[in-house]
Amino acid sequence: MAVAILVAAGSGERLGAGRPKAFVVLAGRPMIEWSLAALRAAGVDDVVVALPAGIEAPAGTRGVRGGATRSASVRAGLAAAREGEDVVVHDAARPLVEPELFARTLEALGGADCAVAAARVTDTIKEAGADGRVTATHDRSRLWAIQTPQAFRRGALERALDVPDDVLAAATDDAWLVERAGGSVVVVESSPANLKVTTPHDPQVAELLLSHRC
Ligand code: C5P
Repeated sequence: MAVAILVAAGSGERLGAGRPKAFVVLAGRPMIEWSLAALRAAGVDDVVVALPAGIEAPAGTRGVRGGATRSASVRAGLAAAREGEDVVVHDAARPLVEPELFARTLEALGGADCAVAAARVTDTIKEAGADGRVTATHDRSRLWAIQTPQAFRRGALERALDVPDDVLAAATDDAWLVERAGGSVVVVESSPANLKVTTPHDPQVAELLLSHRC
């Protein structure tokens, strides 16, 4: 059975809710509780939560103090996780995750060191310089917007996170750290509805979608 690391130690500055983002109430529950319910429905009961200072771990989980960056929080969580299991990392800021997505990312570990939930890109993606001038247009058919959950063979994640803090700080996801360490990463197709609550508009969308699940 896999262990989960639920990262919830971000301040949520961009959201501006006046409390840590993962604890903002959405459709009657603190945001983090939606991901916890999905993990339990997927049969993952052993959950380590990376938390901001002064916040208690949700019932039935083990809390650790998060780090200065997202991957530092994952590293703190991994240090507290049980030995010898596959590990699934999830952002508490993605409350719309469905239980089956945890199952599918963990299953995909049969053929890779890491399996990441990802949505096909539907917009055209261009690169532009600081002056706004477009320098490249990418082939959309090969592009994926990466989400969590991200599932890992434990050894691969341990090696990937064993890097200096400045490398950890440069990581926007842990899969990149596995790629960097020479590990194999596969995408597992997900829906764009598994959105990350980031800006003040996002809680309204998330609440609308979650209120249909109550
Ligand atoms: O900032 P962002 O929305 O990308 O954060 C993604 C997830 O990482 C959130 O669930 C947030 O709580 C978590 N995080 C963390 N420790 C940090 C920064 C972010 O656990 N230092």
